[in-house]
Amino acid sequence: MNLPVNAELLRAIRHDLHAHPELAFEEVRTADKVAEVLGAAGIEVHRGLAGTGVVGVVRAGEGKRAIGLRADMDALPLREANPFAHRSTHDGCMHACGHDGHTTMLLGAAQALAAQRDFDGVVYLIFQPAEEGAGGGQVMIDEGLFERFPMEAVFGMHNWPGIPSGQFAVHGGAVMAGTDRFDIRITGRGGHAAMPHLLVDPVLAGAALVQAVQSIASRTIDPTESAVVSITRFRAGETYNVVPEVAELAGTCRAFSPAVRERIQTRLRELCTGISAAFGVQIDLTLLPGYPPTINSAPEAALCIEAARAVAGTDAVITDARPSTGAEDFAYYLQQRPGAYVWIGNGPADNGHTLHSPGYDFNDDILTLGVAYWVELARRRLPRN
Ligand SMILES: [Zn+2]
Ligand SMILES: [Zn+2]
Repeated sequence: MNLPVNAELLRAIRHDLHAHPELAFEEVRTADKVAEVLGAAGIEVHRGLAGTGVVGVVRAGEGKRAIGLRADMDALPLREANPFAHRSTHDGCMHACGHDGHTTMLLGAAQALAAQRDFDGVVYLIFQPAEEGAGGGQVMIDEGLFERFPMEAVFGMHNWPGIPSGQFAVHGGAVMAGTDRFDIRITGRGGHAAMPHLLVDPVLAGAALVQAVQSIASRTIDPTESAVVSITRFRAGETYNVVPEVAELAGTCRAFSPAVRERIQTRLRELCTGISAAFGVQIDLTLLPGYPPTINSAPEAALCIEAARAVAGTDAVITDARPSTGAEDFAYYLQQRPGAYVWIGNGPADNGHTLHSPGYDFNDDILTLGVAYWVELARRRLPRN
């Protein structure tokens, strides 16, 4: 594909973003840079959604159909270990998930789409803040993203270390897990450990609950589905001869479908109620919902496969990759609109070059491939007659 983008310029943008990482909802400089590049390409720019969010609008032809392409802009609270010239200049903050690359690829796509306008309809270029845990995507949606920029489908892309550069992976359904956390407070009646018959022991009830919770994945979820329920904290007591009043548990759940997610939560509640009755303790369960599972819609995933094959080659698109147990706030977009979230190979994950590691760097060699994919996807979804 002949792209009207300058690979060297893209690389320079990526290095500039990498050297100036910003944390969730603080992407002020990044958003300025994004708006500047979009504006220079003659693209209509809207700012302010979720604070630092930026939406570019490229129209072509007479068509009213519209799609959204989304990139994330935030970095992580991590100290970079890389020695290269474009390493982070913000101590304790690093683009360790490649969002600098995602932002750059979408900027390149914006430039190419605006220069050629060889599709029919509207492409919204969505640059969102705060993907890393703070749910910036949901905030953009809450603040009217889909009302202000009506679109029939929305697409995302994440680099993936461990998949060779030059390749893509597209999932037909679940891509990333939903993740929820929970706190459990067990209140009994503490007292002298030598007279347990006069007490209500929250430690024993807690131990029973830890065991019982393991029955959720093993005994209530269809074995062909996946679920993780982990108790990661158990705090109780101070000394040898006092049974404490309270035990505190915490943990996390992962699931790849809303139904399994719901089932886990229901069983957690039921087990807390049951153990409470069985041991005479009071159990307070607080569920802390996290990102939902990221689930591609099949027709949009199929379109992404076609677009990826067109730009990378027929054999360069993996369609049977397992989903990741990590989570992604693109899930919120997919709860509102059909769409798909694909992985673009970032090359080997050796020598600590995994996501969220201090030695990670986005692979500049895939920038133009990512741009080509976005452009191809827009052309295929909004074809010119
Ligand atoms: Zn990340
Ligand atoms: Zn990421």
